[in-house]
Amino acid sequence: MSYETYFQALCENGHYNQLQGRTRAPDSDSSPECNICKSKIVWTNIVDDTNGDHWGIIPPDLFKAFLKSSSKVETCNLGHQHLIFHEVYNLPTEEERLALRSYKDSFSWTFIFPKHMPKSYRTRTRLINLQKQLKERAARAPK
Ligand SMILES: [Zn+2]
Ligand SMILES: [Zn+2]
Repeated sequence: MSYETYFQALCENGHYNQLQGRTRAPDSDSSPECNICKSKIVWTNIVDDTNGDHWGIIPPDLFKAFLKSSSKVETCNLGHQHLIFHEVYNLPTEEERLALRSYKDSFSWTFIFPKHMPKSYRTRTRLINLQKQLKERAARAPK
């Protein structure tokens, strides 16, 4: 099976992008632009999908923990739905990223941490607490 990766990514303005077909994080030389506003991608999370399990993904429901403002749709006088604002996210910190990385375990998402990431006791405790807080925040976020 070939090595397949993609990146969950956020631009400078907090727009969500998915960068396909890359094996390395975007750097300054080949930095892709945001699909929405064309500004620079400044945060990425690598996902390994070689075995179809999205190893490393922050699942969409949990990504809501970082939601800063929801998208807004307006209906014009012709009855069209126009997207006025896109969803905007806060850039996750490195610890927040590590706390929420997951993979698809048959039908459900399973956290990579703490099972596959042995760390010092203090780091583990901190990340486990962070994971809990972020899960709660994601559950409260607007759908
Ligand atoms: Zn953007
Ligand atoms: Zn219209």
